[in-house]
Amino acid sequence: MVARGLLILAMIAAPTWVASSATAGMRDAADQPTTIEALTAPADLTPPAALSAPAGATIEHASRSAFRDSPPAPSPVGTSPSEVLAAAECSGVVSGAMTNGRLAAANLCDLWQKPYKDRADAVVTAFAMNDAFVAKFGRPMCLTSGYRTYEEQARLRAAEPGIAAAAGTSNHGWGLAIDFCPNTYGGAAGVWLRANGPKFGWDNPSWARPGGSGAFEPWHWEYVSGVKALAK
Ligand SMILES: [Zn+2]
Repeated sequence: MVARGLLILAMIAAPTWVASSATAGMRDAADQPTTIEALTAPADLTPPAALSAPAGATIEHASRSAFRDSPPAPSPVGTSPSEVLAAAECSGVVSGAMTNGRLAAANLCDLWQKPYKDRADAVVTAFAMNDAFVAKFGRPMCLTSGYRTYEEQARLRAAEPGIAAAAGTSNHGWGLAIDFCPNTYGGAAGVWLRANGPKFGWDNPSWARPGGSGAFEPWHWEYVSGVKALAK
C-alpha cells in the first residue's frame, strides 16, 4: 500500500501584524502595531489569510524579506537572542510531498523551546502566539511536545496505548500540533490561551475538549489551517 502523502506548496500569507509579531525585534516596527497593540486590538482581528488559502495555492509571503534583510535588534521581553534567531531563520514555507512522521528537515523549524520543532508554517504562527503570551505573562509558553517522527509516535503509542494515537495518524506526525505544560494550558494562562490562541490560527480541537469524541487533552493544540488542509 502506498503511503498516503500530501502535496503542499503553500506559503504563509499572514497579516502584517502577525508577521510583525513573529519577527519582533528584527526590524524597526515604528509603523507596525506592537504585540500588545495587536493583542488588545478590537475583535476585528482576522485569522491569518493562510487559514482560508486553498490547498495547493502559492501565495507570496508577505514578509519574507523581513526574515533576511533586517539587522539584528534587541530581543523582545522574555526571549533570548537564540529564540529570536530561531524565528528569524524559519521561512514559514513548506513544499513537496509529505508523509506523517517523515517530514523533511527543510519543512521543519525549531520552536522556542528545545528540542521541539514543528512544520515551518505552523512554527511562524506559533512564534507570534508566543510573543503575545510573553507580552502578557512575562515568560514563554512551556512545551512538552511538538513534531514527532513515526518512530517516536510508535514508542509513545506502545507506552500509552490509551492516549497516544497510532503511529502515522497523529497530527504531531504532521508537525501541526503542540502539547503545552500545565502552566500554559491551565489557570490564567489557559484562559488567555483559549481566548487568544485561535487568533493566531491555533486551537484545542473539539475532540480533545470536555465531552469531545476523543481523550480529554486540554494541553493538545493544533495549527487549524494545516489540519484542515490534510482533510481535503
Ligand atoms: Zn498532543
